[in-house]
Amino acid sequence: MFTKARLKLTGWYLLIIMCISITFSGVIYHMLSREVARFEQLQRFRIERRLGKSPPVPSLENSELLEETNKRILLMLIFVNAGILVMAGGFGYILAGRTLTPIKAMVDEQNQFISDASHELRTPITSLKSNLEVNLRDKNLSLSQAKILITQNIEDVNKLQSLTDGLLRLAQFHQPKSIMVLKKVFITEIVDEAINKVSSLAKMKQIELKKKIANIEISANKSGLIDVVVILLDNALKYSPNKNEILITSSIKDGYLDLSVKDFGSGIEKKDLPHIFDRFYRADTARTNSKTGGYGLGLSIAKKIIDAHHGTINVVSKYKEGSTFTVRLPLK
Ligand code: ADP
Repeated sequence: MFTKARLKLTGWYLLIIMCISITFSGVIYHMLSREVARFEQLQRFRIERRLGKSPPVPSLENSELLEETNKRILLMLIFVNAGILVMAGGFGYILAGRTLTPIKAMVDEQNQFISDASHELRTPITSLKSNLEVNLRDKNLSLSQAKILITQNIEDVNKLQSLTDGLLRLAQFHQPKSIMVLKKVFITEIVDEAINKVSSLAKMKQIELKKKIANIEISANKSGLIDVVVILLDNALKYSPNKNEILITSSIKDGYLDLSVKDFGSGIEKKDLPHIFDRFYRADTARTNSKTGGYGLGLSIAKKIIDAHHGTINVVSKYKEGSTFTVRLPLK
């Protein structure tokens, strides 16, 4: 498809260049042949005057010479145009390739996204469907058993909903950056709202969320940044043992605001660190999927949001000791 589009674009480039070149060649040919005729007439006048004869009558020899000169000009212009055609073809092909490369990358990325998303969606949908079918065929299913099964199914549907929500959020950032509206907002507001959203999980696991945040005003997309802090806090809670603590701190360095979320939980193995921001990456599939129900989308969404703020997100982690995620945002 890419080669076809490249050839088509090269064809269009060629058509435009050749139209311009042939038009100019026509004008040049017309002007040159007129100039040659004028020059020939002038020369003839001069010769006739010098010889003292009456006004000249064009001789057959002269008109043949003129025709010959015009033919030579035409031939030269045809050669020049053929050269332009070859050169424009080559350059056009290279240029078309360069023009289409970022588009191809975007299409490839989108195709990959669709294939990853459908793969991730198919597994839970298939298991939900077979579960429902098996239970439907069970003639001895009591009402209380059916209720338990429906409750389990609702849980599965909820998980699927969170997966589709995550996918939609991620897809949102494939669109132009203009959708990210930045406004002045206090960082404490963002952290407080994020803490509020994860408070039930924190309570359930008896984990204390300690914050030491300076009240700094930054230019940011409030809901986007709240999502990022929620993702980091949610992960810190998910991967920490009960009755633990999580620290949320801020500092200012070289015109940047650093916002950190530190936990003392499971930590991340060295081999996983370079991949945790990749879409659908889960460090330990067995552990993360069964216990925490994650789909490996949180950190990739967080990274996309921070990228749109021209910031960075990093992690320092020690396996079985804990992790510190730091978001760095420009103050201006
Ligand atoms: P998930 O929904 O699986 O948590 P994320 O994209 O948020 O997806 O995280 C990707 C992976 O990074 C997780 O599966 C987990 O293995 C690891 N991870 C993220 N945050 C932490 C943390 N605070 N402590 C330990 N591991 C973490």
